[in-house]
Amino acid sequence: MKKLIEGAGKLGIELNAGQIKRFELYYQELIEWNRRINLTAITDYSAVQAKHFLDSLTVTQALRGEEVESPDFSIVDIGTGAGFPGVPLKILLPQPRLVLIEPTTKKAAFLQHIIGKLELENTEVVNSRAEEAGHLPLYREQFALVLSRAVALLPALVELTLPFCRIGGRFVAQKKGEIDQEISRAERAVAALGGQLSQVKRIELGQFSDVRYLLIIDKIYPTPSKYPRRPGIPKRRPI
Ligand code: SAM
Repeated sequence: MKKLIEGAGKLGIELNAGQIKRFELYYQELIEWNRRINLTAITDYSAVQAKHFLDSLTVTQALRGEEVESPDFSIVDIGTGAGFPGVPLKILLPQPRLVLIEPTTKKAAFLQHIIGKLELENTEVVNSRAEEAGHLPLYREQFALVLSRAVALLPALVELTLPFCRIGGRFVAQKKGEIDQEISRAERAVAALGGQLSQVKRIELGQFSDVRYLLIIDKIYPTPSKYPRRPGIPKRRPI
């Protein structure tokens, strides 16, 4: 886990022996399950450390130190796939409630397995689409931190994510490439869902061959009850 340890160090994170052991186990299980179900195209030991584990941990750069200690701090990861970025973050921060939303049943089964294997507490898998889970009182406007990586372009993505965010909380989108146009196209949707773009953080690490960004969107108003619209509509007809 040398690549992960070094990269995490650059983010100001010192991984302890227990955490490194969990990342090792996570890698082994990911590769094992990937033989049977399609979890990831990235399987090389070094590439998984950088492109999955370290990339997931970059979301820490959008956290305010003291909030993580708060007993009501909670995290939801929408469209988590094989657990990114939610599971690496949970390995780092064992305390807060973590909900993993994933509609593909086989991926949800892997998530359930890995939670048990890594002994992650206070973690729940929801085998559902964001358009459905986002209307349930158990999840709607309940989370201080909403995460989502590689699920949709920003105009659709905010409809899938902001309904989960409580007022005063934040949605952090991980993006790369040409973000300016994506941001300007999402302006109307962000406002309609009760959000406000507050910061764009540039992430540049030697472990990555490209520049990455964290788009931080604050939740300032409640999301109108008509959002999210029916399954498939946010991506087909973004606001
Ligand atoms: N976040 C993971 C990552 O970065 O490795 C997985 C990314 S994968 C490209 C996109 C994931 O989003 C898939 O696992 C898919 O099932 C999930 N997804 C797609 N549409 C969704 C929706 N409407 N609600 C929740 N999850 C969705």
